[in-house]
Amino acid sequence: MTRNTRYDVLFEPVKIGPVTAPNRFYNVPHDLGTGNGMPHVHAGMREVRAEGGWGVVNTGYCSIHPSADESPFPFCHLWDDDDTKSLSLVVDSVHKHGSLAGVELWWHSGTTSNRMTRMSPMSASGICYNTNIPNWMPLVRSRPMEKEEIQDLRRWYVEAAKRAKSAGFDIIYVYCGMGFGPNQFLQSKLNKRTDEYGGSFENRIRLMREVLEDVKEAVGDTCAVAARFSTDDMLKVPSNNYPSEAHETIATLSDLPDLWDIKSSDWNREVATARFYDSGHQEPWTSFVKELTDKPVVGVGRFTSPDEMVGQIKRGVLDLIGAARPSIADPFLPNKINEGKEDEIRECIGCNICVSTYHDGVPVRCTQNPTMGEEWRRKWHPVNIPAGNPEKSVLVVGAGPAGLECALSLGQRGFSATLAEATDELGGRVSREAPLPGLSSWARVRDYRVGQLQTMVNVDIYRDSPLTADDILEFGCDHVVVATGAKWSKELLGKDTYPAAPLEGENVYTPDDVMAGFVPVGPIVIYDFDHYYMGGCLAELLTSKGCDVTIVTPASAVSAWTVMNNEADEIRQRMNELGVTLCFENRVTGFENGTLQLESIFKNGKATTMKCESLIIVGNKLPNDGLYHDLKSKVQEMDQAGIKSVRSIGDCQAPGLIVHAVYSGHECARNIDDNAPTETFLFEKPILK
Ligand code: ADP
Ligand code: SF4
Repeated sequence: MTRNTRYDVLFEPVKIGPVTAPNRFYNVPHDLGTGNGMPHVHAGMREVRAEGGWGVVNTGYCSIHPSADESPFPFCHLWDDDDTKSLSLVVDSVHKHGSLAGVELWWHSGTTSNRMTRMSPMSASGICYNTNIPNWMPLVRSRPMEKEEIQDLRRWYVEAAKRAKSAGFDIIYVYCGMGFGPNQFLQSKLNKRTDEYGGSFENRIRLMREVLEDVKEAVGDTCAVAARFSTDDMLKVPSNNYPSEAHETIATLSDLPDLWDIKSSDWNREVATARFYDSGHQEPWTSFVKELTDKPVVGVGRFTSPDEMVGQIKRGVLDLIGAARPSIADPFLPNKINEGKEDEIRECIGCNICVSTYHDGVPVRCTQNPTMGEEWRRKWHPVNIPAGNPEKSVLVVGAGPAGLECALSLGQRGFSATLAEATDELGGRVSREAPLPGLSSWARVRDYRVGQLQTMVNVDIYRDSPLTADDILEFGCDHVVVATGAKWSKELLGKDTYPAAPLEGENVYTPDDVMAGFVPVGPIVIYDFDHYYMGGCLAELLTSKGCDVTIVTPASAVSAWTVMNNEADEIRQRMNELGVTLCFENRVTGFENGTLQLESIFKNGKATTMKCESLIIVGNKLPNDGLYHDLKSKVQEMDQAGIKSVRSIGDCQAPGLIVHAVYSGHECARNIDDNAPTETFLFEKPILK
């Protein structure tokens, strides 16, 4: 297939200072959870993006000096020559495919506590902020930098830039956003200095100008020097000569950097979930920049549609289409557009599991892309998958995300596959959950896979086919994969967090009842010890139907886990706006005749009661594994039917998130023809010299 001419503009080269990006697909700096500690995993992750057509591929934030130490987060650093070596692997892997490699030089904001290096943190004025994030707040306050230390900082930027150049990077960033490095000097709320680096705008912008000039002088002959700048916060700061200090900063430094990379000042709003922000939501923060500079401008917006990308270029908002998450979900997005296969793009669903895994400190995982992070470790490629034996037949039972991914990967491998689904709808939990408020983009998990499956002649799909063990024995095949999912249980939470007996009785429900369309009588209590999206989504759905809703949870906040995927603040605000009553640090112990019994989670176990008509328990899930165990028990019959293996995958094996189900389905399809244990993969380990 050939490219649609409508998208030609996306494939134009763009000159960035002394280098030229081969097209407008720009993989912006974003961390991938490897730091420098896993150079091969890191290089593998970046390489597939270059191979998939991204014209520029950047590293995540890269510390210039041990005085900026983000441990335990897995950040990159260019502190010495060993670091140069580690990152040159990334550069080589990107260059191999003709793309430019960029590195984002980073120095902290005064909210980094140098947990590993134990160096006393410094900042422009020692201002303490960000204390509303207790999980990551620094417990040591930064101190104001002395004048000589500002000169040291300038030198560290230059030294790191020279290392970056010797590693082979083409684009070298100075990170001047989010309060990092020179940005904290720029912002009057963070800079209270009375010397030539504080006070007037001219003084506050001095360090940003100096560092950009220093780095250009050091490496600008062959490397482009980019400024990464956040505008949303400074758009609110008035200026004497411009609409805001954001305008004034860009107008003042206009053509000094070779590229402006525009982003948000707030990690939660920048990498926001689709539940709260649509693609392109950052446009108000980027749209004015091109009027103030002749240098190329890049920005992000979770763009997955080529038409939306073209719109950004044609309307003069951006020159380069920045992406982090769309490139994680589909590293081959540019190539697919180039080959006229835009219908095959595996679109990011905006769930932020990738963000949560970065916060976990492990290589980033993705709901849509099961190969993410496994490129080097398991040699999994996002597009190419080893061929299987077309003579072998595989029956996959259940068409949720696990079954769909398994059938798709089996089909791509060339097996003769059959997918049987009990209901008339494919998608399983995805089809049940996507209609919940804010989750419509989750349907992409189903739609991408169903779209691909429908084109495959070697995969048959049967709907309305609830299979029993006898049906499967009669059907006969080489391998059976049971992907029958899980159901929410009515188990309560016992003391010490072990499950307690299910709470049966009138007006006690689970999310499965509500997702099937049932609206309980109000007032309703949602008892949430799942701590992720479900409790809040049900509260939103039921309040929209006029119900009076209270959330009871043993946690100290609603949807407590969501601090990990950047949506905790939005969920709390939404619950507040909807008038949902919240009751924290309590367990439900019983419910009878409209009275809910509660017990404090603390030692005193203080008992209270609450009136409500209905209770929805959002707690544990139990696997639908009856069919699997039934089959496993019929050893002789299976043998007679020629069935060589039975496996369970996804929620049927271990109830979890959609990301786990997709991964499980993929892993099963990759290893179906090999009955040996599959847990063999490479580990990067420290080498003792
Ligand atoms: P997962 O997340 O592991 O993919 P889901 O719960 O999303 O699990 O999907 C499981 C799917 O399996 C559902 O669509 C369900 O209708 C289907 N299913 C359950 N039991 C059977 C069965 N006996 N035969 C065919 N399909 C089944
Ligand atoms: Fe997108 Fe979710 Fe994948 Fe992150 S994990 S890239 S948000 S689909």
